[in-house]
Amino acid sequence: ARTIGIIGGGQLGRMLAIAAARLNFRTVILEPQADCPAAQLANRQITAAYDDPAALAELADICDVVTYEFENVPVVAAETLSASVFVYPPPKALEAAQDRLVEKRFLNGCGISTARFHTIDSQADLETALKDFGGQGVLKTRRLGYDGKGQKVFRSAADSPDGAYAALGGVPLILESFVAFEREVSIIAARATDGTVVCFDPAENVHRNGILHTSTVPAAISAPAADAARQSAEKILAALNYVGVIGIEFFVLADGGLIANEMAPRVHNSGHWTEAACVVSQFEQHIRAVAGLPLGNGERHSDCVMQNLIGDDILAVPDWLRRPDTLVHLYGKTEWRPGRKMGHVTTLTPKSPVLA
Ligand code: ATP
Ligand code: MG
Ligand code: MG
Repeated sequence: ARTIGIIGGGQLGRMLAIAAARLNFRTVILEPQADCPAAQLANRQITAAYDDPAALAELADICDVVTYEFENVPVVAAETLSASVFVYPPPKALEAAQDRLVEKRFLNGCGISTARFHTIDSQADLETALKDFGGQGVLKTRRLGYDGKGQKVFRSAADSPDGAYAALGGVPLILESFVAFEREVSIIAARATDGTVVCFDPAENVHRNGILHTSTVPAAISAPAADAARQSAEKILAALNYVGVIGIEFFVLADGGLIANEMAPRVHNSGHWTEAACVVSQFEQHIRAVAGLPLGNGERHSDCVMQNLIGDDILAVPDWLRRPDTLVHLYGKTEWRPGRKMGHVTTLTPKSPVLA
């Protein structure tokens, strides 16, 4: 493969374009928004809707392989493309990740535990399901939620469900049982066209206002818990005959047990640390995988903390740049808004001994 198509033009596409360029690949971005973060680094942008038939035909024509940087690529678009060009990760990974109900059934089918759940198609469904969970739970839209948007938490029976179904848009919802987790971790894994799997070390994630704030590696979890995360990743990747990088989020219980929360069939924000602390980053690993190259060495040479620069965090960049231990990565967005991801920084420390 010499030309890689990337559907989506955000910062993840931008970082994929950089990794691709370093391995001598050309990149073409399909993104309706002109002057997107990825277009600044890609060789070319096709400025059209993700499901525009003419744009998809052109992309298939000029690319050797097409990948994507967000999980809400229309499945029909990915399937249409896959009739004439390699599409990695496979379109069925999109299907499994786009709908939280399908996703949980898929994970459970792989033998991976999730929160308990009820499908919610009406206010009456919600009231029945909440009773079953003792008044506690997390109500989520089945599709299109991110950064905690499209969710409502019920902490106790005192939290009234009145109007909650309509408030989340009257769309298909899922009520998850409330998981009293001790911490949250994620694992970033890659699978090559020959089935080889390479996992990065699990990261421990802290959210602020529903948005990822920091990812710390190593995570403060036991070696068996880290192994369980790796084994879950291997099951998921094999079940999907996957090619590329995937990010899988877990809740860690007090007894060390893992509950899968969700998965993203793409490079993942909680894997940005790999560019600073590993020989080969998640971005290069994804490019290697989809291009049919051997996977690289995902070993961690340092401990680290990745912090997202959200909104006016961008004003602290001059301070970050003065630090000798920190890699600064900015996304080329000229205007900041509250909640907008502007860049990230990764601070390195010497690698600690492995936890027992
Ligand atoms: P992302 O930006 O990671 O895609 P998202 O909008 O898809 O986020 P989730 O990851 O499902 O949302 O949930 C966001 C956060 O809310 C989780 O990281 C966790 O902190 C909390 N949360 C979600 N589901 C549950 C649950 N069932 N029990 C307890 N906390 C939960
Ligand atoms: Mg999500
Ligand atoms: Mg999440």
